[in-house]
Amino acid sequence: MTRVIDPARLLSVAREEAELGKAEGGVPIGAALFDTTGVLLGRGHNRRVQDGDPSMHAETSAFRNAGRRPHYRDTIMVTTLSPCWYCSGLVRQFGIGRVIIGEAATFEGGHGWLEEHGVEITLLDDPACTALMTEFIRDRPELWFEDIGVPAEN
Ligand SMILES: [Zn+2]
Repeated sequence: MTRVIDPARLLSVAREEAELGKAEGGVPIGAALFDTTGVLLGRGHNRRVQDGDPSMHAETSAFRNAGRRPHYRDTIMVTTLSPCWYCSGLVRQFGIGRVIIGEAATFEGGHGWLEEHGVEITLLDDPACTALMTEFIRDRPELWFEDIGVPAEN
C-alpha cells in the first residue's frame, strides 16, 4: 500500500504545521502521523516556546495527538526536518515503519541511523521546508540552538 501514497501530499500537512508554529513565534518544524494508506492519525508542531516545554518537538506532538494504537509498524511519520536523536528514538521505540522527511540540509538528524535499523526513509529535499529553517536559523539562532541543545557526535 505504501506505493499508492503521495509523499509530497503528506509532507504538505507537516509543512502547514510548521507554518502554524512559525506564525505562533515558535520553532517552525511540523509533523504528521499517517497510516500506510495515507489516512491522517495526528498532526502537530514544535511547541517549545508556546508551551514552555523543551520536549514538545513536532514529531512528539503529532505522535501524542494520534493517541494510542496497538502497534506502529503500519504508520508513517512525516516531518519537515530530519528527526533529532530524541524523535529518532521515538520512531525506534514505537517501531514506526517509515519516515518521510522534508529536508536534512539545515540539520543532519537521525535518518541515516533509522535507515540502518530498517526504517524506510524518504528524503524529499523540499525547498519550502529548507527555506523555513534557513530563515529561522538566520533570524533566531539563539532559539534554534536552545532547541537543539548540544548536538550528539555522529
Ligand atoms: Zn525532535
